[in-house]
Amino acid sequence: MTSQPGTSAPARLDLTLDGGALTARLVDQPSVSGDERELTDLVEQALRELPHLTVERFGNNVVARTELGRAERVVLAGHLDTVPIADNLPSRVEGDLLWGCGTSDMKSGVAVQLRLAATLPAPNRDLTFVFYDCEEVEASRNGLGRLAAAHPEWLKADFAVLMEPSGAMVEGGCQGTLRVKVRLTGVRAHAARSWLGDNAIHHAAEVLGRLAAYQPRTVLIDGLEYREGLNAVDIRGGVAGNVIPDECVVTVNFRYAPDRSPEQAEAHVREVFAGFPVEVTDSAPGALPGLDRPAARAFLAATGGQARAKFGWTDVARFSALGVPAVNYGPGDPNLAHKRDEHCSLTAIAECEQRLRDWLTGPVESNE
Ligand SMILES: [Zn+2]
Repeated sequence: MTSQPGTSAPARLDLTLDGGALTARLVDQPSVSGDERELTDLVEQALRELPHLTVERFGNNVVARTELGRAERVVLAGHLDTVPIADNLPSRVEGDLLWGCGTSDMKSGVAVQLRLAATLPAPNRDLTFVFYDCEEVEASRNGLGRLAAAHPEWLKADFAVLMEPSGAMVEGGCQGTLRVKVRLTGVRAHAARSWLGDNAIHHAAEVLGRLAAYQPRTVLIDGLEYREGLNAVDIRGGVAGNVIPDECVVTVNFRYAPDRSPEQAEAHVREVFAGFPVEVTDSAPGALPGLDRPAARAFLAATGGQARAKFGWTDVARFSALGVPAVNYGPGDPNLAHKRDEHCSLTAIAECEQRLRDWLTGPVESNE
């Protein structure tokens, strides 16, 4: 879509559209990371017209809440940004599929959030709708992270659903990730007189041997199976074709189940590489699925009772860090995210909305 000087502002969002049509409307309002202001304005404006919601804005992030004094509060969250457009706008419908940038990741999820915000004035649990920017770029710009730092009280809840594409499967928690450099040292020498040196690359053999022999854990948490992994992801060393190298660095990535803290994960990796200097370069905690909570149990029942562990790191960990267990559940297809031929099933959008509606209007299990 083009925006010429002098043309009027984009038309308001019509939240009475069905989920598929509303997704198309959101997709046709481009919002590449860093460029979300117009879409955020539209979302904020549409939510402010709903008398049952309290609306707050912080940068290009909008938080809308019901204040009904219910026993439980749940968050439905989604990011407004997309990866750069790849000649895949405007959106188009073909049979049951809606094509275009952001259809799966994750404007279909945002459309479901907006539909629920507009049509559930008296849900069985208090609701907090979170719309945020800059999810698809470096972590320091992430709107949810900045919201959590500036206004943690806006995100307080018993349970959170992040509506990222999950193929309408519940993906609980997420694994933690730790990256370390294991540095091997030696003595540099001329390759013709190698006995005067000490080859650092050869010392990597011991490190690689420990990795090859490593038996990763499989951990069951709330019925979900998390598979850990400890792997070399980079190795570098070498000075020149005639030099015995005096340094070799192996970079290792540990993906760990959320029953370990970042500190425990680091201690474990240091133990595996005992005797070698280990330097941590990157660490992000995992997130527990929290599926034992009443709100989560009811959510699982409403969505068909099927859940699997989330292996990649996602923003659910930001909720977990605030003490809010979180899952991914959205209508998009994760395998199509960021692709030129990104699309989403209209049926999946409608089903996702219906299941969340059932969860938020059905009977509530009392807290024991
Ligand atoms: Zn996403």
